[in-house]
Amino acid sequence: MRLFLYISISFYFFISLLFAEETRQVDKHEHGVSELNIAIQSNTMVLEFMIPGADIVGFEYEAKSEQDKATVNAALTKFDDYNNIFIIPTNSKCLLVSSKININQEDDHDEHQEEAHNEFYAKYTFECGDIKSLDLLEFPYFETFSNYGELEVQFVSEIGSTSFEVEADNPIINIEGKI
Ligand SMILES: [Zn+2]
Repeated sequence: MRLFLYISISFYFFISLLFAEETRQVDKHEHGVSELNIAIQSNTMVLEFMIPGADIVGFEYEAKSEQDKATVNAALTKFDDYNNIFIIPTNSKCLLVSSKININQEDDHDEHQEEAHNEFYAKYTFECGDIKSLDLLEFPYFETFSNYGELEVQFVSEIGSTSFEVEADNPIINIEGKI
């Protein structure tokens, strides 16, 4: 009973974080470490990525030159098609119902551009016809972006939570039996 209560509280706490407005300070991140939160509730799955700009485009100052803007826009366009980032098994019948993709740029308090930080933020919400059949999630993210770092995954469903560290040499997680 106590364990169940603990899981329930952390689940709803986590869900409330996922659905809250983004308030994270981007300068707290570590270059080479991207974060992914996955939350499953009922037939809904939410994936939320927070990836340092250094890991995507190789810089984190605000793009001002035409070349840098083009680089950033090309990266954002890749996030628009989630299949560039992750692949969901088709038998789970998951359909994308909403997404939010942007860059959280740290306020530039000074002119020292090398100290600026930003993050790519991408959140995808799916409704799934057979959510319990979800097993392997693959991450073509590592092929899409050449500056990739490791991906730290926090996973939560109504039966508990777990975490994964994903790297390019084995870009897969297995969530079978965790939903
Ligand atoms: Zn940074």
